[in-house]
Amino acid sequence: MQGLLLVISGPSGVGKGTICAALLRRLPDLRLSVSATTRSPRPGERNGVEYFFVSEAEFARMVTCGELLEWAEVHGARYGTPRRPVLEALRRGQDVLLEIDVQGGLQVKKSFPDAVLVFVLPPSMEELRRRLAARGKDSPQAMERRLVWALKEIQRVPDYDYVVVNDAVDRAVAEIISIMAAEKCRQQEYRQVKGIFQ
Ligand code: 5GP
Repeated sequence: MQGLLLVISGPSGVGKGTICAALLRRLPDLRLSVSATTRSPRPGERNGVEYFFVSEAEFARMVTCGELLEWAEVHGARYGTPRRPVLEALRRGQDVLLEIDVQGGLQVKKSFPDAVLVFVLPPSMEELRRRLAARGKDSPQAMERRLVWALKEIQRVPDYDYVVVNDAVDRAVAEIISIMAAEKCRQQEYRQVKGIFQ
């Protein structure tokens, strides 16, 4: 059976990275898609591990050649999901995790209606502000920009299949694992029925 394509989105600071890392630890067969980006690597980031760091020209070439499943501009840089590794893994029956922004998530849903879109919400905007401040990555102006952007992203929650509130990482991860299990039952049933009536 084809693998499940799981998309996780949510505002910066909500804890998507921590949730995805925990999911990958709990589900050894889950494959993380490594995106291409035009942003520069942060200290400690390695090419091909966190991202494929590419030039604007290389990114434009990948778009033109149809090598990206989706792509979007986020905070001034471009990000995209390489198509081939995702399709190959799904075909092999492996589940694939995409940690991408809302614009990308909606593009994925268009080309893969079976993709499961999960939006991670903070318990409150005050908590999101506190988490962003605790990361210490942003200037006060950049933090305000991220919060405004977060509110814009949250408007798209109704287009997602599921919402998970990250008030405790373990609980959020358990909920996502339950969502995947439920979705697999649904798709299995659908395929079996389709097989019988074809
Ligand atoms: P960061 O630069 O902090 O790693 O990521 C910034 C944002 O880009 C995050 O919201 C992340 O989910 C999003 N992002 C990362 N990779 C992709 C991708 O391949 N496609 C899209 N649409 N967004 C991505």
